[in-house]
Amino acid sequence: MQELTHYIDGKHIKGTSERFADVYNPATGEVQAKVPLATSEELNRAIASAAEAQQVWAAINPQRRARVLMEFVRLVNRDMDKLAEALSREHGKTLPDAKGDVQRGLEVVEFCIGAPHLLKGEYSNSASRGIDIYSMRQPLGVVAGITPFNFPAMIPMWKIGPALACGNAVILKPSERDPSVPLMLAELMTEAGLPDGVLQVVNGDKDAVDAILDNETIQAIGFVGSTPIAQYIYARGCENGKRVQCFGGAKNHMIIMPDADLDQAADALVGAGYGAAGERCMAISVAVPVGDETADRLMEKLVPRVESLKVGPYTGGEDVDYGPVVTAAAKENIARLVQTGIDQGAKLLVDGRDFKLQGYENGFFVGPHLFDHATTDMDIYKTEIFGPVLTTVRAQNYEEALAMATDHEYGNGVAIFTRDGDAARDFADRVNVGMVGINFPIPVPLAYHSFGGWKKSGFGDLNQHGPDAFKFYSKTKTVTARWPSGIKEGGDFSIPVME
Ligand code: NAD
Repeated sequence: MQELTHYIDGKHIKGTSERFADVYNPATGEVQAKVPLATSEELNRAIASAAEAQQVWAAINPQRRARVLMEFVRLVNRDMDKLAEALSREHGKTLPDAKGDVQRGLEVVEFCIGAPHLLKGEYSNSASRGIDIYSMRQPLGVVAGITPFNFPAMIPMWKIGPALACGNAVILKPSERDPSVPLMLAELMTEAGLPDGVLQVVNGDKDAVDAILDNETIQAIGFVGSTPIAQYIYARGCENGKRVQCFGGAKNHMIIMPDADLDQAADALVGAGYGAAGERCMAISVAVPVGDETADRLMEKLVPRVESLKVGPYTGGEDVDYGPVVTAAAKENIARLVQTGIDQGAKLLVDGRDFKLQGYENGFFVGPHLFDHATTDMDIYKTEIFGPVLTTVRAQNYEEALAMATDHEYGNGVAIFTRDGDAARDFADRVNVGMVGINFPIPVPLAYHSFGGWKKSGFGDLNQHGPDAFKFYSKTKTVTARWPSGIKEGGDFSIPVME
């Protein structure tokens, strides 16, 4: 049994708490490693040492810091196959999808190489007589990233790339389900030239998270995970005076208008609904065809596509569409929610309940499920299932479809499929959701734009990556300066006004 470590001060360090979590291979159901769960003392030590290292890192100019990230990009590309294999083995997603996970993280690090430009301040010459005003962006100090299981490469890189580029030290607390890739990324940072202690990977569970929330040195927390935990971390982090951004769960709708190309829509739905076993925060989990005729035609095209999905292990070759879900508990939760859908009267058009894979009977595989005739009061509509289950709710007209996405408590992503530019434009303008796709099912913006959901999908005021991340991970100092020749004699007892 492999015993994983923390990564502190540039070295792998064994845990001392004697508490561990099991890390599974979801394809076989076997425990393949155990990961140490840090105590608050272990965490506080890692934070104290990061605080010292941060002073050194912040004193290095932004362009030299960016060169470390540049080298990191090269090293991650060099090790792409190794990283993808480790990722698939712990998460279960297919190898091409695992490479996409690494790639979408790497693109944010590439964006962060522009730090010298992004950290430039503003300057107003002669803002008043003899007075110049300028601003500078300075690092926050030690910041923390707390990340979910479903993108074990991408989301850690979304956190560490911008935070390091801004001159901060980072405590990364990855998901205890698949911690190996974050540890490998930290090793690569050391190889790329990052000073020891600037990136500390501390594994753990709620105890470690609470220690981060209460530690006075931590200046900011970036969290991604489920909504109840996002709300908890946001509230406690803010109460402790930290800068906090938390991204939560989702229920992403795809509206299919009567004029849409239904083959394209059906292809988009199988990819976005079942890819990564539905374990993406931007997965489409609700299909909303507009009008019964559209719905009937769509189902005709969708059912055979869903029935022919190939479910298998990441070692199963290129034609595997998706792998197992992450744990036995996740599998049980999906089965429970599917049962509520049946009990509450939705029609299960494709039934994946009896799915079995020969040779992988203990793996956490879930067959594809497709519901039709669901309604907005059902649990399968209201709850994030996070599995290969697509729920269809028929809308009678466009306004009803728009209202569904707008009124749902989650507001991460949404898509509309149509040939009508006016409808698409109106939809993008009015829908109460943070990221919108037009004939595009998974509208995850590229690295130089920013990513963030609305309503219960996001807490805080700045998004992830893009220019927002540089705002989040730096603070603005504004200097008002004049030189002796501009100073009049005598004290001035009124508030200064512009001259
Ligand atoms: P999770 O909330 O269970 O865990 C996320 C992190 O919080 C992990 O590091 C975990 O160790 C920690 N954590 C878990 N329970 C905790 C507790 N009681 N107190 C303190 N910390 C705790 O989420 P998950 O299952 O790993 O990830 C899936 C969820 O993440 C889904 O809801 C998905 O929609 C969401 N997600 C959202 C986005 C987004 O950008 N909005 C992206 C990816 C995933």
